[in-house]
Amino acid sequence: MQTPDSTSSPAMVIVGAGHCGGRAALALRTAGWQAAIHLVGDEPHHPYERPPLSKDLLTGDKTAEACALLSDADLLEARITRHVARVTSIDATARHLTLSDGQTLPYQSLLLATGGKVRTLRIPGGDLPEVMTLRNLGDAAALAQRLTPSQRLLVVGGGFIGLEVAASARKLGCEVTVVEGAPRLMGRAVPEPVTERALALHRERGVRVLLGVSPQSITRTATGVRMDLADGSSIEADTILAGIGIEPDLALPQAAGLAVGRGVLVNAHLQSSVPGIFAAGDVAEFPSVLSGQLVRQETWHNAETQAAIAAQNMLEGELAAYTSLPWFWSDQYDHQLQVMGEPALAASSTTRTLDDAGGMVIFYLDANNRLVGACGWGQTSRVAKELKLARTLVERRITASADVLANPATKLKSLLSNAA
Ligand SMILES: Cc1cc2nc3c(=O)[nH]c(=O)nc-3n(C[C@H](O)[C@H](O)[C@H](O)COP(=O)(O)OP(=O)(O)OC[C@H]3O[C@@H](n4cnc5c(N)ncnc54)[C@H](O)[C@@H]3O)c2cc1C
Repeated sequence: MQTPDSTSSPAMVIVGAGHCGGRAALALRTAGWQAAIHLVGDEPHHPYERPPLSKDLLTGDKTAEACALLSDADLLEARITRHVARVTSIDATARHLTLSDGQTLPYQSLLLATGGKVRTLRIPGGDLPEVMTLRNLGDAAALAQRLTPSQRLLVVGGGFIGLEVAASARKLGCEVTVVEGAPRLMGRAVPEPVTERALALHRERGVRVLLGVSPQSITRTATGVRMDLADGSSIEADTILAGIGIEPDLALPQAAGLAVGRGVLVNAHLQSSVPGIFAAGDVAEFPSVLSGQLVRQETWHNAETQAAIAAQNMLEGELAAYTSLPWFWSDQYDHQLQVMGEPALAASSTTRTLDDAGGMVIFYLDANNRLVGACGWGQTSRVAKELKLARTLVERRITASADVLANPATKLKSLLSNAA
């Protein structure tokens, strides 16, 4: 084994060259760190944004190059050393880590931005090659190849990614069925009135949606694959996409002695339980700014904003706290869904109708009529401006009565001055 290279010390090391890792590497340099920055990731690509993988990239409206967050030139200019390797162990006492290519890297501060790995279908036949998952560029390219007109796609999981892929596949002319085990789409993160509208939209656009049914087994047939369901029925398809979520891979941090829960446990400064090691992005479980409860966010916004805070705190100057409110969006056909803040903390809610085409925002208020969250839905071109304003209102935690928020005559902009 190689010994740590003392000439490259002190160094900042980031494990995971995805969205959060890429952004953090750049932020370290921008914040003035002069010595080495090592960005270690096991994908062959430079950091890129994942949202297009289920949307524009899948439909061919965006290229892989357009998803990139950092180019060769950016890495060179920022003097970021990129390692295409897997980190296999961390020695938190000696402050160095070992890579799958045998290298050992010392660190002054270390950021874990390792995201999550996709859940696979653990049923008989779940490992057939026709059963796919979607997390990276390679997965998207493989899936795109199969989504040609008239191909039969069966999506298991009516969550955001499953529904986005269903919408993209319809655009590509595929026959699409979605199977969801719960009684409604998109789980608990989205309120029922919005999930009802999304369900109606998918059915209107030709997707067969089955709720409350779970897959039992998959068998190859002469013409494709057949999935048998718990209710005794079965569905034939050419391709199955398992869109059943991700789980952080906690083996590495656990072996290094870090406290873990549903993710790597960090405080408001994104510091783990071990000095010098931080975690951010999908892998981090952190205290919510509104409730203090531990949460894990699998969103673009979380990866983007935690990267900046983690980088600042790795520099060991004045510690910054992560105070950003949750926010995510999902694009399905020409519609957009947004959820902001923490609707679960609400004492009451009120609905504002945005247009005559089903556009709406549900605002969530605490007991003092202070906004703690909102969920918006509608045709993107018609509701984008209102959803942006709703997000600003939630971010500023304005106080307003339910009636005022629901009244279409109230200009949302006029409420901005009610900031808490
Ligand atoms: C298809 C898809 C669509 C999405 N759409 C939306 C959307 O519309 N809106 C939204 O808000 N969010 C969306 N997201 C979520 C968003 O993209 C993620 O939250 C974000 O990418 C998380 O960034 P991250 O850096 O934490 O993890 P990632 O971007 O997953 O990066 C982690 C990286 O670490 C690498 N890694 C893991 N372990 C190791 C190791 N031991 N050694 C080296 N490398 C390692 C992984 O291979 C990966 O490259 C989408 C995600 C996907 C997959």
